Amino acid sequence: MSRRDNTRFRCTRCRMLGSLCVCALMPNPRCETRTRVVLIIHRYEDRKPTNTGRLATECLANSQVIVRGHASEPTAQLAHAPGALPLLLFPHEDAIPLTEVSALADTERPVTLIVPDGNWRQASKVRNRVPGLRDVPCVSLPVGEPSVYRLRTEAHETGLSTIEAVARALGILEGEPIRRALETVFHAMVERTLWARGRVMTTRLLAVTNRDRPDDIVHPDDRPGVHRRV
Ligand SMILES: [Zn+2]
Repeated sequence: MSRRDNTRFRCTRCRMLGSLCVCALMPNPRCETRTRVVLIIHRYEDRKPTNTGRLATECLANSQVIVRGHASEPTAQLAHAPGALPLLLFPHEDAIPLTEVSALADTERPVTLIVPDGNWRQASKVRNRVPGLRDVPCVSLPVGEPSVYRLRTEAHETGLSTIEAVARALGILEGEPIRRALETVFHAMVERTLWARGRVMTTRLLAVTNRDRPDDIVHPDDRPGVHRRV
């Protein structure tokens, strides 16, 4: 069975296979933030189980998802809350470091952080493809630790996964606890997916996912009726 054929075995919320579900590690209730996160996701990206943008919005109460890329349906104009300061999180050439903006930002104006999700090419087009975005200032993240995203080979070498970028941006705008909450879920997703692909050891998986016993997690190939690949 290919990875794309197994949708019915996946959690409808986090999209992980069966007992690898990471929903129990998501903040419950979702994290409250002053910053509103608006994810703009390409429809091709939206189908991928390794997508991390939706994982981020599932953790955040003040968030919204806009799906773009439907040929017959133009993407809806972005509507910013009155008084909010919209910022596009993407390292275009004219981007301002987010740390500078957050230091200067009028504290009366909550930020609406617009986050393109998709591969590098899709994300770089968002500013010109979504009505209302052209005049929104771009912000970039400071150089930090490298990404721990190891689920895709085509990731941009200097890029982060979407949830890592959101976590670091909210770490600057909201504080470290929000960043840690998102990164906890993300690290569990990465480790469990690699474990299912046979690329990490069970002992390491248990260490990063707070599970006590290997029996708590069933390998996707060991589900009843599924024949293990060789
Ligand atoms: Zn789940």
